[in-house]
Amino acid sequence: MCEFCLEHGEGRKWYLEAKNYGLDLLHDVNRQQAFQKFSKKLAVSGGKSFHERMEDLEKAPGFVRRVIRWKTVRSMKKFHYGQIVPIEDIERIFGFVNSIIRTSCLCRRVLTGQEKRYCYGISMGPGGGDLTDAFHEVAPGFSGSPDPKGNEVVTKEEALASFREHEKEGLCHSVWTFVTPFIAGICNCDRPDCFAMQMTVAHDTPTMFRAEYVAETDMESCDGCRQCMRVCQFGAIGYSATRKISHIDPRRCYGCGICRAVCKKDAIHLKDRAKVPAAAGIW
Ligand code: SF4
Ligand code: SF4
Repeated sequence: MCEFCLEHGEGRKWYLEAKNYGLDLLHDVNRQQAFQKFSKKLAVSGGKSFHERMEDLEKAPGFVRRVIRWKTVRSMKKFHYGQIVPIEDIERIFGFVNSIIRTSCLCRRVLTGQEKRYCYGISMGPGGGDLTDAFHEVAPGFSGSPDPKGNEVVTKEEALASFREHEKEGLCHSVWTFVTPFIAGICNCDRPDCFAMQMTVAHDTPTMFRAEYVAETDMESCDGCRQCMRVCQFGAIGYSATRKISHIDPRRCYGCGICRAVCKKDAIHLKDRAKVPAAAGIW
């Protein structure tokens, strides 16, 4: 269990607790103001300057780097932190929320200048809840949307079908807090276009937990096609030229399950992280 499960899930998966999606949390004025401020700052100071700032961080003396990383992680845990979640748990979340909206991805907007509808708002309210207004503040004027506010209400079936397509593209799913523990968003991320993944994986400044799972290969079924290696965003899969099979390093695996989605031999399965000694406790 990650620390959020202990703090916000009473020992169960925190993102499967309906209370963490509550309308009372969504309507908290302080929360809305804090997030608007954050998204404006991201939109203004992102893009190229994000990479420049990360390069500056890497060049800083070791002690300075450690302090900045520690402060960043601490503040993001309070404010906007994520966790990788495989598709079966996304389905469970969709089972109890009442509406889903599809909207523009702020990271891709800032980093690439493109509008991509890879992000989803989830709400206990009907018809998109009040999230359409909240998200409009975050990503205003999304021209690709059928809705003038930049959002699109979708059914659970439509959302799940899109998530499965995103998996084939190699995008992994993650839930996000908006002033922890309130969860309002699920993203479909890849490393080049996601601030959080870059900070977590490339700059040793985690802004998301790994999944509560770890992937494992069934060596008997694997035919060594290496499709799984192609999609893993975390460099967790190696290939044995001698045995002609792939191998997943449990210490590097984030448990997203994307490799499983492209394996035609059904050779990859997710296990509870807690039951894999090499990975338990690595978040
Ligand atoms: S995609 Fe499946 S069959 Fe291909 S190398 Fe990976 S585990 Fe083996
Ligand atoms: S090896 Fe782990 S991190 Fe890589 S795609 Fe598979 S589940 Fe995700």
